[in-house]
Amino acid sequence: MIPEEKRIKSSILLIYTGGTIGMKEDPVEQALKPFDFEQILQEVPELGKFACKIDSRTFSPLIDSSDVEPSNWLELVNLIEEEYDKYDGFVILHGTDTMAYSASALSFMLEGLTKPVVFTGSQLPIGVPRTDGKENLISAVEIASEKDEEGHAKVPEVCICFDNVLMRGNRTTKINADNFRAFRSENWPYLAEAGINIRYNGPAIRKPEDWDKRPVFHKKLDTRVSILKIHPGITPEVVRDILCGCQTRAVIIETYGAGNAPSRGWFLDMVREASSMGKILLNVTQCIAGGVNMDIYATGKGLKEAGVINGYDSTTESALAKLFYLMGEIQDDQQVKILLETDLRGEISK
Ligand code: ASP
Repeated sequence: MIPEEKRIKSSILLIYTGGTIGMKEDPVEQALKPFDFEQILQEVPELGKFACKIDSRTFSPLIDSSDVEPSNWLELVNLIEEEYDKYDGFVILHGTDTMAYSASALSFMLEGLTKPVVFTGSQLPIGVPRTDGKENLISAVEIASEKDEEGHAKVPEVCICFDNVLMRGNRTTKINADNFRAFRSENWPYLAEAGINIRYNGPAIRKPEDWDKRPVFHKKLDTRVSILKIHPGITPEVVRDILCGCQTRAVIIETYGAGNAPSRGWFLDMVREASSMGKILLNVTQCIAGGVNMDIYATGKGLKEAGVINGYDSTTESALAKLFYLMGEIQDDQQVKILLETDLRGEISK
């Protein structure tokens, strides 16, 4: 725990879930091991220069983010709910592999946020000389603690801070396995960029309708979703297994370009069959930028006529999280479909 100073202006809760960032070399075993976050000031003394009190919580057990499950998102939401009034912002240290999924999920589970929830991590452990972890952590803490002249949080959103840029969490995708610029947000501008100063992109940042209202903490998730990635050579058997499987309530169809899929008769027949079985079918593009428009090509029109819902410029990570959240909260599939095409947390542009 960092000792409280007189000049303290903000208090931050740092939640360490696992991942590369918290690793340090154990000199005896000569292997990377998670370090004790109670000692964070020793590892990152720069944090002591902020006018900010930092408390930490550590997941037990720590997880590689490839093991992240909705139960972990629930644990984060419960913790943020319990501590919401005590802190000005939350920084979540998380592995990069599924960070975009977790940030998307929390953006839907935390409705009406008035405080920042900033995810960060690193490509190299904090305990190695060329680490990107220290810079990422320092920027995340600074952003999570910043307020405007009225005393409101500058970025009251779930976001990802990585390699000097701040992105809306539900717009991100991990695009690089070894470069420091691991994430992209192609369909929404950066919320901030850290250079000599941190420059905030005010118009791109969402603000709550009522700063005095406590957020709604949503905790019901329905995970009966699968993903069908269209590719040349895809067979009727594979498509049927995924679209019409009895365990799913919804299927995300990852299509080509502006939302296109094969125009062959069997394919559209199966989409119609799944639709008539009551499946919620959501169209998102495989492209990293741009979105779905099912009115341009005949193949897209066929999907629309078969009842497929437009995912606009959603990432797959965000589409999955939105489906989990909406289906957990709402039993009526028609209502779910209407809300899928509605922008709820800045996740789609229409
Ligand atoms: N496998 C690690 C994780 O996602 C990679 C990382 O932290 O960057 O937890």
